Amino acid sequence: MWKNVGYYNGELGALEEMKVPMGDRALYFGDGIYEATCVANRVPFAIEDHLDRMYNSLRLLEIPFRMERAEIQAELQKVIDAAEDSPIHFLYWQISRGVCPRNHPFPGQEVSPTLMAYVKPHVMKPLDVPYKLISMEDIRFKLCNIKTLNLIPSVLANQRAVERGCQEAVLHRGSRVTECAHSNVSILKDGVLRTAPTDELILPGITRKHLLALAREHGILVREEPFSMTELMNADEVIVTSSSALCIRGASVDGIPVGGKDPERLKLLQDAYWAKFQRETQPGQA
Ligand code: PLP
Repeated sequence: MWKNVGYYNGELGALEEMKVPMGDRALYFGDGIYEATCVANRVPFAIEDHLDRMYNSLRLLEIPFRMERAEIQAELQKVIDAAEDSPIHFLYWQISRGVCPRNHPFPGQEVSPTLMAYVKPHVMKPLDVPYKLISMEDIRFKLCNIKTLNLIPSVLANQRAVERGCQEAVLHRGSRVTECAHSNVSILKDGVLRTAPTDELILPGITRKHLLALAREHGILVREEPFSMTELMNADEVIVTSSSALCIRGASVDGIPVGGKDPERLKLLQDAYWAKFQRETQPGQA
């Protein structure tokens, strides 16, 4: 057992000691995809949703990953089970196109995709402590629906947020809000939950999907349509969602207070989300 567990193509070890081959295309081109989720009681939350999105990203990037669902799930479980106890773990995994000499075109069929993963102890952010946000032009390419390893614009955006004492950056293309550096963003306005549609400009977040489903279950109207920065600034609540932090209220953007005007509906959604997380990570749920 290790505190931080690393995994590369079947090999397990202490994360700090694992090495990857220099030919891995993830290193040169970010040529791969990734997934991440929280784990409680050694049960990865919403694993089926993450595997669905993983296979979709692989298909869109034409990465010929051949492991069946049950097989990759078993490999990920080995990584989880090799971790020392923690109330919550964080599970990350990525698949690259494989290991070969650097060259832009895809390698031949003799090259197999690589599977890399790690598990670390994780502390979830308290749902009642809001985020401070900044806003930034979204300069990413138009493959945002694929969870690729190419994250430089998101890295820069999150760095700018941290430098300003904030937790996330709201990205917009012109006036249209897309998502955040590593989260989706939704708003509550007049009792309606509004969020950007799942086109090539945003990642179809699993937490976003669950939030919309919970809203519908609780009789809250959902509109998946573009909304503007002005609408976000005037929203009753701003909700930032991600697998690592679930759903957190945004309290300011660029130092200007936002939201805080529909706390009951917000709390209803946050409580429903937390209950879902706990229910679906009971021992024996895997
Ligand atoms: N949008 C981006 C750009 C992300 O990187 C992430 C998570 O990493 C999300 C949204 C949230 O997705 P999920 O809820 O599946 O974690």
